[in-house]
Amino acid sequence: MNSKKTGKRQSETVTGNALDIHFKELRCLYDIASITGATDISLNDRYAKIVNILSRAFQYPEITSVRITLNGNEFKTANHRDSRYKISADIIVQGVPTGMVEIGYVETPPGATNGLFSMEEKLMLDAVAERLGTITEHRLAEEALRESEEKFSKAFNASANLVAINRLSDGTFLEVNDSFTRLTGYTRKEAIGHNASELQLWADEDEHVRLVKAINNNIKVHNMEIRIRNKTGEILTGLYSSEPIVINGEECYLHTITDITEQRQSQEILQTVSHNSPLGIYIMQDEKLQYTNPQFQKITGYSQTELLDRRLLSMVAIEDSDVVRSSTAFTLQESSPYPCEYRIISKNGQVKWVMQTVSLVRYDGKEAILGNLMDITERKYLERKVIEYEELNKLKSDLLATVSHELRTPLATIKGYSTMILDYFARLTPDEMKEYLVTVDNSTNRLAKLVDNLLDSSRMEAGLLKLDRSPTDIRQLIKKVVAEAKIRASHHKIRTSLSNNLPKSNIDVKRIRQVLDNLIDNAVKYSPEETEVLISIKRSGRELLFTIKDRGVGIPAEELTSIFDRMYRIEQRLSSGVDGMGLGLYICQGLIEAHGGRIWAESKVGQGSTVYFTLPAVRSMLIKSKR
Ligand code: ADP
Repeated sequence: MNSKKTGKRQSETVTGNALDIHFKELRCLYDIASITGATDISLNDRYAKIVNILSRAFQYPEITSVRITLNGNEFKTANHRDSRYKISADIIVQGVPTGMVEIGYVETPPGATNGLFSMEEKLMLDAVAERLGTITEHRLAEEALRESEEKFSKAFNASANLVAINRLSDGTFLEVNDSFTRLTGYTRKEAIGHNASELQLWADEDEHVRLVKAINNNIKVHNMEIRIRNKTGEILTGLYSSEPIVINGEECYLHTITDITEQRQSQEILQTVSHNSPLGIYIMQDEKLQYTNPQFQKITGYSQTELLDRRLLSMVAIEDSDVVRSSTAFTLQESSPYPCEYRIISKNGQVKWVMQTVSLVRYDGKEAILGNLMDITERKYLERKVIEYEELNKLKSDLLATVSHELRTPLATIKGYSTMILDYFARLTPDEMKEYLVTVDNSTNRLAKLVDNLLDSSRMEAGLLKLDRSPTDIRQLIKKVVAEAKIRASHHKIRTSLSNNLPKSNIDVKRIRQVLDNLIDNAVKYSPEETEVLISIKRSGRELLFTIKDRGVGIPAEELTSIFDRMYRIEQRLSSGVDGMGLGLYICQGLIEAHGGRIWAESKVGQGSTVYFTLPAVRSMLIKSKR
């Protein structure tokens, strides 16, 4: 009986205890929940409060101590001290154990027979630890959100770009940034609640319509150039981009505009300057033209599109390309402009003298060369005329002396030998007779050549030189010239090197033969027997380049240009017995220039000389249509 009674009382007590624990547990969780919900309390204060709530939830609150350790912080009841009667649970934050809740009795609890802590208490501890993990997680998420909101709002307002958010449905501005108010002149209050049309922001209605269409068709707009009107009516140019965004479930648009008004204005000024400049201006990258102004196009004769991506050097006279290259290289190295003069071959083959300076600039984000050049063709022509005039005066006196000397020598020979033949006619053997007559014949030829040269040079000076041009196959011409030269100069090795597919040239065949004969004869005349004379021809752009190279005595560097002057002969050779009047190269130059070409020489004394000349090539189309 007793035991039954006792048994019943015992179970009643247990039930009462369990209820009591459940009640305490509920109360505890309720209190924790109400602290969690409060917004005006910091995370640390929360833990400090929870420590006390938790201690009251246990059977013996007076001797219960609680400690929460979390992220290096510690929160504990006033009576806390380390105890051997304790239980604990981990606080898990985002799957990682980050802290711990410990419950302990600071002294031996009374009647602690059935284990120190009941199952319900242990479960409650687990529930509280889990709850603490969740609170911490939420709090961290909230902080991250607040931080990102703060960052966004800072970026939004600090942006130098105009930024605005509007509703897709009616275009009403929901938010605008500081740059918006600064650039448009409208305050936030004036802008928010209105749309771009109400503020008359669009300077160009067509642009507006195009943009609305793009947005309606979900086409992403990026860096489109637009113009907007600000509050004072000023027009600004900007690069416009937009992105769809959803705010509170509503479809909106984020618009950004980069103000490029000043950039455009300076570009326009530069463009106007460059457009009206009397100087030819170009911008070049990797040796290719990227920009040219109208004056540059006028000098070269090519259109803007023909010049784009064309190499500048392809228009430079071949003999000047080194000057252009080195002046550009000097500028790049020294960062200071180095003016140079060179010749441009224009589209229709005209030779234009230009003076150029270049400087380093940035263009399209890359390093580039900005060149400006002045057409100095006229100046060069006048300079040359002045020099020629000065030389003419000097030459007049030289001419008489040279002509009389050069004419007298063969005349004296002819006179001497013919008198001898007449005086000793009967006594001369046939061989002697032949030898004297050959001498008379050679001297007559020399005399005839001298007279021809004198006549040609006089014709040139009087501007009476007439060319009888026809499209000519250069290969055929050179074959004939070389065949005859080989007979004249049987002790030299005359060779040719001709490129395949040489185009025709519109020339006076007789005159160009004269030039070639003269240059080959010089090469032979001024080089030892058995050496080689090489004649090569190749195409160079719109020209044919002729080269006559010998391995003879050479020409001193300082005389390379003078040898083309009228009656110029190199001093030391005057006495060396080689005949000549210094008219050959002068006439060659006159004939080549009359054909629209150029002639020049290169040489190394003792190693040989090379004379170059150019002639304009005829485009095959032109010849075909003439046939
Ligand atoms: P010339 O009738 O005196 O040869 P040119 O006008 O043909 O007159 O040549 C002028 C001068 O140039 C010559 O006197 C000669 O000294 C020099 N010259 C021309 N061609 C050559 C050459 N191939 N090699 C060396 N010197 C040359």
